[in-house]
Amino acid sequence: MYRIAVLPGDGIGVEIVPQAVKALKAVAARYGHQFEFAEALVGGAACDAAGHPLPDETLALCKRSDAILLGAIGGPKWDQLPVELRPEIGALLPLRKELALFANLRPCILFPGLLHASTLKEEVIKGVDILVIRELTGGLYFGEKKREETGDGGQKATDILTYSTYEIERIVRFAYRAAQQRRGRLCSVDKANVLESSRLWREVVSELAGEYPDVETTHMYVDNCAMQLIRNPRQFDVIVTENMFGDILTDEASMLTGSIGMLPSASIGGEVGLYEPAHGSAPDIAGQNQANPLATILSAAMMLRYSFGLAREAEAVEAAVCSVLEEGYRTPDLVQAGRDDAAIKVTDTVTMGDLVAERIAAQA
Ligand code: NAD
Repeated sequence: MYRIAVLPGDGIGVEIVPQAVKALKAVAARYGHQFEFAEALVGGAACDAAGHPLPDETLALCKRSDAILLGAIGGPKWDQLPVELRPEIGALLPLRKELALFANLRPCILFPGLLHASTLKEEVIKGVDILVIRELTGGLYFGEKKREETGDGGQKATDILTYSTYEIERIVRFAYRAAQQRRGRLCSVDKANVLESSRLWREVVSELAGEYPDVETTHMYVDNCAMQLIRNPRQFDVIVTENMFGDILTDEASMLTGSIGMLPSASIGGEVGLYEPAHGSAPDIAGQNQANPLATILSAAMMLRYSFGLAREAEAVEAAVCSVLEEGYRTPDLVQAGRDDAAIKVTDTVTMGDLVAERIAAQA
């Protein structure tokens, strides 16, 4: 029996998470597992109900669970709260820190059915399969932040970017092991021409490279990487990078897969893994049953694989997503005007979730 903490959060989080729960229930029924789901508030919803974006009960539930399924948090309603109560800073970052989730895995895979769904040319994205490994508990997002008056009526704002050898070594080793199980190529992304933290990052990677002779190591500046992802994404196998660079590059890389609604993530490293789509709460489409639930469903597949060791079941979820897309079903974010044919069936969040669950149940 596996205990899963379910934190839908805000915006489209409350619409997409139930679709992933449906997929997990279909897996449980089809493969004879028992999943126990316990739901809790997080983010803006928790601020409204309990006065804090990460209530003690929610954190306690997460800690006693085997894995966490999160939707998304934040939105304009909570943007004006004091900084420590803002959903992202008050809930997401402490959750990652408390649970020691230092490794964030974001697989950017183009499902064959979505070759025409991206804004990018088919010949550029065909066969894209990149694993971005983002350091998740260090760097700028966790550094000291402060504001000072400058005396001239203005202010000075500071965010400190720190990385230690230990933090870099631990994520880079993780990335090397992942590269060994894939196509054996690791690209470390930094800004070593400007940032001291990046110079340390590059030194550590260069030192570790000798321990992994079976992996080809390259270094790339983050600005170049942003360009190369669009120019020739198939050159990449595993990318390892620091927290903020990984955050930004993966939003960009999501477009290689057709939509940000296709990019799942796993945050691991501690005892409990956290699984969530790479996107945010999408306030612009919240409450409309239009959001793409596939990133969340694919995050649930990652939970099966990484937290429960259920590789066959994870593949069953991924195969179900693949077949629904090949049958032509699309949420609106996956429809490119003028690029899709008449076989496309535009569908909504709930129907997409139902279709995936049905395909899981029907698997031989
Ligand atoms: P966003 O990812 O929420 O949305 C960016 C764009 O992508 C929007 O146009 C949105 O409609 C679209 N989009 C995102 N997910 C989609 C999906 N599943 N299906 C279809 N379209 C989708 O980013 P944003 O607008 O910059 O941020 C909105 C809020 O989410 C902010 O409060 C932000 O801080 C928060 N946020 C939270 C997380 C998280 O919970 N992990 C991550 C990023 C942003």
